[in-house]
Amino acid sequence: MARYTGPVCRLCRRENNKLFLKGDRCFTDKCALERRNYAPGQHGHGRVKVTDYGTQLREKQKIKRTYCLLESQFKATFDKAERMRGVTGENLLVLLERRLDSVVYRMGFAASRKEARILIRHCHFQVNGRKVNIPSYVVRVGDTVSLREKSRTIARINESLDGAQRRESASWIEMDREGFKGILKTLPVRAEMTTPAFQEQLVVELYSK
Ligand code: SF4
Repeated sequence: MARYTGPVCRLCRRENNKLFLKGDRCFTDKCALERRNYAPGQHGHGRVKVTDYGTQLREKQKIKRTYCLLESQFKATFDKAERMRGVTGENLLVLLERRLDSVVYRMGFAASRKEARILIRHCHFQVNGRKVNIPSYVVRVGDTVSLREKSRTIARINESLDGAQRRESASWIEMDREGFKGILKTLPVRAEMTTPAFQEQLVVELYSK
């Protein structure tokens, strides 16, 4: 499936959940979900009977859309989570949080994961001093992610860093704002991933059919 290029607020309205895809706008009263809290489309106001499969599918879509992934990328991450020790659902979220685009977003360099991905593709970041331009790169505990010297004056990045405290904090990241870098201190903590609230076990049930 090709990448979705339509209005992203529609995705939040479809999932009936704030997915925080538009950066700072998501924290204002301009948020489309707050203005039109019903599903998009002609039948958005109608009542729909949701089956178990439908609930599982919506949960999978919600997670996939939050992390801005295509179906194949999401399924590949799920397969990897399944091969790991521990609880598959938790492993899945931890792997998604360790993606470089997620880490850059959590560090506050970008206002959304989509923006983080663009910045990474444009070679603005280094991991342990080496240039990395792959958004799906999996960051390991102890890795340092830093903004390249020449990118430190970009106004948009500085604005994002200044507004970062509005977003959900992540205890697994230690940020050095002055040094434009951060470290992944520990593995991401599932209990702290509360916005949006995921029910990852429904994804496991969906894929185990
Ligand atoms: Fe749009 Fe952000 Fe609100 Fe979602 S949370 S509807 S992306 S403004």
